[in-house]
Amino acid sequence: MTEYLEEVYRRISRTYSREFLALVPEPVAARYQETCRAFFSADYLTGDMVAGLELAWQEVLLALLGPRPLPPGERAARLSALGDVAARVSICAACPLHGTRTRPVPGEGHPGARLFLIGEGPGKNEDLKGRPFAGRAGEILNSLLSLLALSRKDVYVTNVVKCRPANGDRDRQPLPHEVAACRSFLKMQLLVVAPDLVVALGNTALRWFDPDASVGRVKGQVLEFGGWRVYPVYHPASVLYRPELKEELEGDFLRLPFALAGVER
Ligand code: SF4
Repeated sequence: MTEYLEEVYRRISRTYSREFLALVPEPVAARYQETCRAFFSADYLTGDMVAGLELAWQEVLLALLGPRPLPPGERAARLSALGDVAARVSICAACPLHGTRTRPVPGEGHPGARLFLIGEGPGKNEDLKGRPFAGRAGEILNSLLSLLALSRKDVYVTNVVKCRPANGDRDRQPLPHEVAACRSFLKMQLLVVAPDLVVALGNTALRWFDPDASVGRVKGQVLEFGGWRVYPVYHPASVLYRPELKEELEGDFLRLPFALAGVER
């Protein structure tokens, strides 16, 4: 409980300000303020109070990081543009990966996503299912998103290359000419979704923006590249072979709303 209280104090000290609360709609900000006030004025915390506090914080997270509600016409136009990208990917033969793929994996998610997550390339499961992050790394990604009260339907998820890079049965990193050949598809998706923040999952995604960058040096910071705000973190699959990175990766996801809002933590 002490750890939880310390966490709540830290969170409130970063977020209980006019600047932060101006980022979310008024009713959500008001409910959050009210629960924070009740927390500070209480002699002791009840279960209901803790549940109310967490619910109000989840509402803040969803308002800050969840998808934008789009007018029906705008939603339809964006879905149509994303469908057009997927159709082009499905017939693309611009690099050798088209010859070994089972299914192309263009990407998926909300057309008005505020968060746009980019991985490296489809792996074996993704290649079979035609969906990004469909295997064990996807399960880790889902649990990281749940820390922010989000699910996959709230964000947009894709990869730097849309077809599986593999050596025989083993996944591999995409080669520079494969990344270059696939570049326009990711660029179109970014332009259509127009997210507030791009989460670069691993070095391949980060180097799509800056070839000299390294996640190890800049992870957990909001960087600017050509108009995109980019938040680099380790790739979820890194936890599978380096379990000690799990805590760090979770910490970077938990820090994301504060980084996005410009309140350090
Ligand atoms: Fe085309 Fe990209 Fe697939 Fe290469 S990886 S064939 S460029 S869609």
